[in-house]
Amino acid sequence: SDQKSPVPDEDRARHSELARELDDHSYRYYMGRPIIADAEYDSLMAELERLEERYPILITQDSPTQKVGAPISVDFAEVEHLVRMESLGNAFEVDELNTWADRASAEVPVEAYLCELKIDGLAVDLVYEHGRLVRAATRGDGRVGEDITLNVRTIGTIPERLDESVRPAPELLEVRGEVFMKVEDFHALNDRITETKEHTPFANPRNAAAGSLRQKDPRVTATRPLTMIVHGVGAYTPAGGTASGRGSGDSEADREGDVAFTSQSQAYRLLGEWGLPLSDRYQVATTMDEVRAYVSYYAEHRHEPAYEIDGIVVKVDDFSLQRRLGSTSRIPRWAIAYKYAPEEVTTTLTDIKVGV
Ligand code: NAD
Repeated sequence: SDQKSPVPDEDRARHSELARELDDHSYRYYMGRPIIADAEYDSLMAELERLEERYPILITQDSPTQKVGAPISVDFAEVEHLVRMESLGNAFEVDELNTWADRASAEVPVEAYLCELKIDGLAVDLVYEHGRLVRAATRGDGRVGEDITLNVRTIGTIPERLDESVRPAPELLEVRGEVFMKVEDFHALNDRITETKEHTPFANPRNAAAGSLRQKDPRVTATRPLTMIVHGVGAYTPAGGTASGRGSGDSEADREGDVAFTSQSQAYRLLGEWGLPLSDRYQVATTMDEVRAYVSYYAEHRHEPAYEIDGIVVKVDDFSLQRRLGSTSRIPRWAIAYKYAPEEVTTTLTDIKVGV
């Protein structure tokens, strides 16, 4: 190759092959019908990232390393998120987790991390106006998602109205979280659809949740045992207030209706008071030793929660530090997912079919 194109043909070809494969797998995955294991997808992505690190010229806007999610289905209307929804960077080794924390601490004075479970479901965005649920959407490409409001209204744990017994509902509140199916409910559902021959059983709870949520007919979704846990805040305008955007108010003001979000853990307390479904397993850690202890606890007790997890998410707790750390095109620099090694497949091989 000539001087203007320093990338050997072989590497360039491998790059486009990987990009094409990853796009294809991503599409299948978000349609609820993956054909490879997540760990395999992750290792293809890691190979692509290594190539782009070596040859930054290969980084284009439509590279899988720069994009979130998958195309929008024509079955749903498009919804623009008020605040972009991102993916998460991955760590597969404790070393990588440490490197992430060192980089963050080199830039800002991190005093606390929030550790929580990485639930294996699908990301959903909820918008509340004056305490009423007005819109729900899938993550889509992070900027635009699919309007699944009617389907989400069938999920019992998601309040139609925010609870105002502690404080008035904000003018505007956008939250995001994971919609998922508990393992027990997933098995019961599969038994039921096997009996009724409704369609082929689902391969795992994640596919069951994705398939159930992205139904054209909300009456079908209503028969599916879905639930949700909230893990993030998007746009926010307090009840009486002028502040807008998540945690943009740096004040600690907690006058009636004029409350600012200051940290992930403080936001969770407020969201909980408004009746939103939260995890009871998150933990604030003040040292990386505590973070690592949380990671190893759940590595050994992976099946203690009623739902499937594929890792741990660690977030810098303080919102002003989150803002200072910012994001790359696809992932926040203030959070990371520590992914557990895939488990041995224990399902019987007679029935590996994936439903929608
Ligand atoms: P991701 O799933 O690795 O991480 C981001 C997502 O984690 C967020 O969107 C959010 O929905 C979720 N999440 C769960 N718990 C959370 C918490 N407590 N806090 C914050 N977020 C939480 O990234 P992704 O971009 O959604 O998807 C990429 C992953 O999906 C890959 O790493 C791969 O494992 C899998 N995938 C698999 C295939 C396949 O063919 N098997 C294809 C595409 C993607």
